[in-house]
Amino acid sequence: MVDKICVVCNESVYATICALCLTDRTEAWLEGKKLSMTREFRQQVRLFLDSLKKRSTMRCSMCRTETIATCHMCYLENIGGWLARKDKGLAVDFVKGFNTGLISNSFKEEIYA
Ligand SMILES: [Zn+2]
Ligand SMILES: [Zn+2]
Repeated sequence: MVDKICVVCNESVYATICALCLTDRTEAWLEGKKLSMTREFRQQVRLFLDSLKKRSTMRCSMCRTETIATCHMCYLENIGGWLARKDKGLAVDFVKGFNTGLISNSFKEEIYA
């Protein structure tokens, strides 16, 4: 398997899940928290994606779309940073949720498979 390189940090991407699939999961989490900010959230993801240079692509293991290669850390940093500007506690929850698999169980399976 050829290593995919994240276009943001140049590290290998171990779990090839696209930003949009991560976003679906995060939205489910936001809704679980009864927060009505999914619209703003989508906008932020859009900005993040637009800021990327299409140097490297990967096929998402969830939706099978050929997409710009990004790792979940850069996604976390960007989206978590945006959340932190709105609500610090929420941002901490977000990162925790990500790391404990609340948001993405299959994501973890990808990493440790
Ligand atoms: Zn990265
Ligand atoms: Zn996807």
